Amino acid sequence: MPASDRGERIGHEFLGVIEDVGADVEGFKAGNLVVAPFVWSDGICDFCREGLQTSCRHGGLWARGGIDGGQGEAVRVPQAQGTLVKLPAGADCALLPSLLTLSDVFPTGYHCARTAGVNPRTTVTVIGDGAVGLSAVLSAKRLGAERIILMGHHKDRTDLGVEFGATDVVAERGQQGVERVRELTGGDGTHAVLECVGLVEAIESAFAVVRDGGTVSRVGAPQYDDVPMPFGVFMRNVTLTGGVAPARAYIDELLPDVLEGRIEPGKVFDLAVGLDDIASGYEAMADRTALKVLVRP
Ligand SMILES: [Zn+2]
Repeated sequence: MPASDRGERIGHEFLGVIEDVGADVEGFKAGNLVVAPFVWSDGICDFCREGLQTSCRHGGLWARGGIDGGQGEAVRVPQAQGTLVKLPAGADCALLPSLLTLSDVFPTGYHCARTAGVNPRTTVTVIGDGAVGLSAVLSAKRLGAERIILMGHHKDRTDLGVEFGATDVVAERGQQGVERVRELTGGDGTHAVLECVGLVEAIESAFAVVRDGGTVSRVGAPQYDDVPMPFGVFMRNVTLTGGVAPARAYIDELLPDVLEGRIEPGKVFDLAVGLDDIASGYEAMADRTALKVLVRP
């Protein structure tokens, strides 16, 4: 986002307690704890009904075009009935960090694993040890994958990846990392590759470690215009899928596992700051001293 002289409302991942409800909104009342997916949507158009709320005909992004952002004392939620999900928990609940991941990073990792077709018979490589990559590990495990190779070089993060279900960690970067994954898989690569970085080097590595006939899914926002899928990739029948995650489509499915404590995606938060200290949270993320920062009101 470009620098702004007057400040901007920002933030697209949030939980909140309802203060007031618009006249057309049903099913919510003041005091309800809710989670907002990182895109707002009406919940009733054809795309929403197909589970592609990110393409909603009457939806949009937070903190754009006069819409509020989530990093503030209060948010006005457009299309609240289609957007919000009520959480059967109180604002003092110990599960809040894990519930907050339902807003973005956990469903994004899950979208990556689902679109790649991860199942108990697939081997998986996850590229990236950020919050989304670790969520992708957790998601692949949840979908039954028995072999999950995590490519990442931050030891504290890959340790959490192992806790989430990674069976192997490849800390080498670039070509060395690719060769290590191939070694671990008898030279073949894995059926599914979950690319959770978004840099061209990451997508190139993804094509290099996917097994012939396999699938690369990318959910890292691409920092490149052209996908490097040359003739050699074509000859190996590799499928490319993924894209922006319709988080709203997955929340109902993932919520029980979080509420019942079977998984704890909120472990990706390793620093909490108050609203007044928010700049220090951004600094910690930029310096890579924090994996993911939780802002408390
Ligand atoms: Zn819609």
